[in-house]
Order: sequence, then structure tokens, then C-alpha cells
Amino acid sequence: MPNWANILIAIVSLDLLIYFQHLFSHSIPLFWRVHRVHHTDHDIDVTTGLRFHPIEILASMLIKMAAILLLGASPLAVMIFEILLNATAMFNHGNIKLPKLLDRFLRFFLVTPDMHRIHHSQQQDETDSNYGFNLTWWDHLFKTYRAEPQAGHDRMKIGLPEFPGTDVQRLDVMLSLPLKNGSPETNRTDAKKTDEKPQDRPHNSTSDN
Ligand SMILES: [Zn+2]
Repeated sequence: MPNWANILIAIVSLDLLIYFQHLFSHSIPLFWRVHRVHHTDHDIDVTTGLRFHPIEILASMLIKMAAILLLGASPLAVMIFEILLNATAMFNHGNIKLPKLLDRFLRFFLVTPDMHRIHHSQQQDETDSNYGFNLTWWDHLFKTYRAEPQAGHDRMKIGLPEFPGTDVQRLDVMLSLPLKNGSPETNRTDAKKTDEKPQDRPHNSTSDN
């Protein structure tokens, strides 16, 4: 008979862990270089939810394995968490518009497509928000929650301004992206050096260059 309280604690703990993993993927320059592959898509849809660099997938697996050992999570808890994570990642990257009332209700606990789309905005203060994949609570708790994009969902720009071209959609370019610096005119690292507004700054420090 499975211990459902332990399973629930393990699932919520793992969700908190991937919230922090995602947050550090944006704030640590080396991690951002790998994670930004996920942000290169100019249109967010269900395939964006699968677009991760193999290094990030491997690193994520190792972090989760360590956490599972530390938590002593049962195989059933890990299986439920993985099913939930994959299902919700597909759901919240989906190019779908939920009725406003349903979206508002779901956001009490679940990350919706409207909420996660803000995280894929080209505007950095929006990219550096809404890190959650499953539960919305962590973004509220750690003050990284954004309710709406500044430009509105219909007009907001998706992707990374430092990679404006379509070549970044090619598999070989995506795989080598951690080594690339992006377009100098739009690279946010350069924007930081020229003392632009805080929201135009890069996700990372000057070591991104
Ligand atoms: Zn991200």
C-alpha cells in the first residue's frame, strides 16, 4: 500500500527543486548559455516544451537523481512526478487560449499557457519571471510571478533578441548555441555595457561574451 503523504511530499519537493533549477538556469551565465536553447523559439507551442539542449537534459536528470536519493522518494512518486512534469510542460507551452475565468482558477495551483508564455517574452524582466512548470506557488512565494505581459499576449515578442534569425531553428545551430554569442546589435550583454535600462540587460553577466 503506497504511502500517499510521502508521495505527495516527494512530488511537491521535486517541483520546488526544478523551480530553483530553472531560476539558476537564468541567473548563472554558464547555465543560461545552455538553457537559452529552450528560449530561441520565435513561436511558443507544444514543441517548445521539448526543445532543450542535451546537456541540460542530462544535468537535469543528474540533479533529480541526487534529489530523489536525498528525499528517499519512492519509484511511484518519481514516476507520477515525471508524468506530471511532462504533461504540464506540454500543456503550458501549448499555443492555446483558455477562457479567462478558467485560466484564473487554474493559476491558483497550475501553471497555464498564458502564465508560462510570459516567461518566453523577449523582454528580459518578463523572461526572468514565471519559472514554475507545475505549481504556481513558488513564483508567488519567491516573488518571481508576473500576471500579464506588458505588451499583451497578442503583441508580445517571443524568443531572444540576440538570436533574431531563422538559422537558430536549425538542429546544428541549436546544439552549438552554448558556444555562440548572438547578434552584436541586439545582444543583451552589449546592452548592459552601454548602460541601457535594467530590463534590457542580459540574463547573465559580462562573461556571456
Ligand atoms: Zn527559462
